[in-house]
Order: sequence, then C-alpha cells, then structure tokens
Amino acid sequence: MRPDVTRLKPFLDAVYDRFHTEESLACDPLSFPRQYRDPIDREAAAVIASAFAFGRVAAFMPVIDKVLSRLGESPGQALAEGNRALFREVADGVIYRFATPPNVEALLSGTAALLRRDGSLEPSVMSGFAAGGTVNGLLSLADALRSSGDGDPGFLVPVGNPDSPMKRLCMLLRWMVRRDGIDLGIWKGLRPSDLLFPLDVHVFRISGLLGLGPAGQNNAPRMKDAIALTRQLAELDQEDPVRYDFALSHLGISGTCRGSAGPNCADCPLVTVCGARVACD
Ligand code: SF4
Repeated sequence: MRPDVTRLKPFLDAVYDRFHTEESLACDPLSFPRQYRDPIDREAAAVIASAFAFGRVAAFMPVIDKVLSRLGESPGQALAEGNRALFREVADGVIYRFATPPNVEALLSGTAALLRRDGSLEPSVMSGFAAGGTVNGLLSLADALRSSGDGDPGFLVPVGNPDSPMKRLCMLLRWMVRRDGIDLGIWKGLRPSDLLFPLDVHVFRISGLLGLGPAGQNNAPRMKDAIALTRQLAELDQEDPVRYDFALSHLGISGTCRGSAGPNCADCPLVTVCGARVACD
C-alpha cells in the first residue's frame, strides 16, 4: 500500500522550521562556499566542501578549512590559474579517512581544468542531463572531474556507478541549483524539481522510520532509493522535492536523531509519526 505522504507535511514542516536555519548552517559544509561572494569562488569551494563531506561533520570541517585556506581569498581564481605545483602544495599532508594527498591533488586539478575550460562545472552536468536526465547529469559530472585532472581523486569523486546514490554530488547540485537563505542557486540550467534527494544512511533510516521506504533499513541506500524518496516528497512540493533535505540532515547532525529510539525522541518534531515512537514512549 502506498504511504499517505501528505499526512507527514506538518511534521516535516516543523523539522524544517527548527533546522533549516542559519544556526544549522554553522555546522554544515555549505558554510564554506557561503563565505565567498564571487560565484566562481562559491562554486570552487562548494566542489571541495562537498567532496570531503563524508563521515563526522566535526572531523571533515577542519579538513575543508585547511584546503580552502591554502587556496587563499579566491579559491576559484586560484584553481583556474593554478598549476600542478600549487595543487601539490595545497594537498600536501591532507589526509582524511580514505582520501590521500594524491587524491586531493587530482580533485583540485580536475576542478581547475573544468573551470578553465568552461568557466564552471555546470556544463559538465548539463551535457549529461540533456542526454538522459539528472542521474546522467551526475554521472557526467563525476566522469568530467575524474577524466580532467591529474591522477585519481579516489573516494572524493564517485566512480560513476548508476546504482550509487552519489549523495555528495546530489548535495552539490542542491547547493548550486536551489536558492534560498541556505542554498546558493548559482546554476540556472536545472530547476529545483530536477534535483534528487541526497540520500545518506542517516536520512535513509529516518525516511524508513517515517514509512517513506522499507522499514528497518540498515543497508546502504542506492540510487533507486534516492529516486523513490524524491518522488514521494514531490507529492508535498512538486517544484521543490528536496526542500526538507537540509533540515532532515540536521536532525541527525545536531545529535537529535540517532536513527532509533533514544532520549531525544520526546523533543523530536517527528515523534508522533516516527516508527520508533513505540519504543520512545
Ligand atoms: S522520533 Fe526519535 S527515532 Fe524518530 S526521527 Fe525523531 S529522534 Fe529519530
């Protein structure tokens, strides 16, 4: 039986009101591109910040800060005008989980090559999107980043598996396409309705607790799950189906939700519609 998504709207709106805020932004990788004014700097910072956005927020924020600080006041310009020696210098000693300095160097050189060639990464998305929709646009961007740089960016850029939810690239697209007090809205080729939900394991679990997918989902999400969740949430807002992404992410980032019943459930806006509520009571 199809879940009645519309009954969730007031509860999701309450999550949005609480977490879709400047305060949440302070502990989100999106805070890095927002520090710049020029669109090319915002875009360069967004690519770097989203690439490192895996694992614990507190662990990856200083890494992003280190890379961007080394690129100076104008990371977009620094990349576009930079050479291999600069990328090596910036990447020197940057190790974060699966990412090594050569991976960082490859990410920087790939981004730089696309900025030099097209002035933006948007054309790489749009060429794939025009040929086959949003998933194809994401694959096209991943391929362009991987094939344009020197070396292998490793885990920093997805390998282009259409089964993968490509969470960080979906999030980058959200930042670049949606426009509000949070997202940047620099790219104009896609509409917010073209976006796919950036689905990680935490949001996947919460969506399952809300009946927006299989219950008790402990597996890693796949692209088909991101598409299914996006379609369900499009029933609430066809023009902006990923509207709740930032807020739902911060339900987890803030420590309010750990994906199962816990002491914070009583204060959670979703408690009356969450599958964990029996255990919470
Ligand atoms: S009620 Fe508890 S388990 Fe459910 S979403 Fe809220 S914090 Fe998470």
